[in-house]
Amino acid sequence: MRTLGLIGGMSWESTVEYYRKINELVNKKLGGWNSAKLLLYSLNFEQIVKFQKEFKWSELTKILVDAAVKLEKCGAEAILICTNTMHKVAPDVKREINVPIIDIVEVTAKKIRSSGLKRIGLLGTKFTMEDGFYQYRLKKYAIDTLTPDSVDREIVNDIIYEELCKGIRSEKSKRTILRVIEKLKQKGAGGIILGCTELPLLVNEGDSDITIFDTTKIHCEEAVKFILGES
Ligand code: GLU
Repeated sequence: MRTLGLIGGMSWESTVEYYRKINELVNKKLGGWNSAKLLLYSLNFEQIVKFQKEFKWSELTKILVDAAVKLEKCGAEAILICTNTMHKVAPDVKREINVPIIDIVEVTAKKIRSSGLKRIGLLGTKFTMEDGFYQYRLKKYAIDTLTPDSVDREIVNDIIYEELCKGIRSEKSKRTILRVIEKLKQKGAGGIILGCTELPLLVNEGDSDITIFDTTKIHCEEAVKFILGES
């Protein structure tokens, strides 16, 4: 079994899900008392959000590089950055380490490609929906991305940071997210990327009749393939 290094705490609410899902999947495959060999470097999200708000992406890169290098030194054979947003700087982190990063955008793009869908709605933080890094990388897989209008982008962003990252889950916000999903469907989206690792805490695959790509789940499934030597 290979050892995986997780950079988490962004937020810890979703890191808990990573820890649970990866262990559950490993145990489902191997049975008995088997669980995943994991190293977790959990960051202080206050610091991350502060730098995000100040658009200090080079400072954020330094924080992630520091965590990744430490995880590698401790024996991590691959790195998982447990957030979509921070994959904005994943290529810069990759250059500083000698082990692979299991990239959430790449694995999600491959999953969408194998579904045959070509136009996808993207929900996530404003950085994920607006900065272009996600769309650009999906485009390489011939996938077109639709995002909500600016008012809805603001609303989705607020639900993520002000509620889900603080452990607040409400029926009202769930209905709001489902309404935004419905609007993207009307605009022509054939599926929806839950492109924020906290969104699946509120909305699940069964909540809508449109195909949902849960990035936390897809990322964990790929992580487990790596752990078990299947990829
Ligand atoms: N976990 C979230 C994501 O998947 C947002 C938190 C962050 O800014 O990293 O994008």
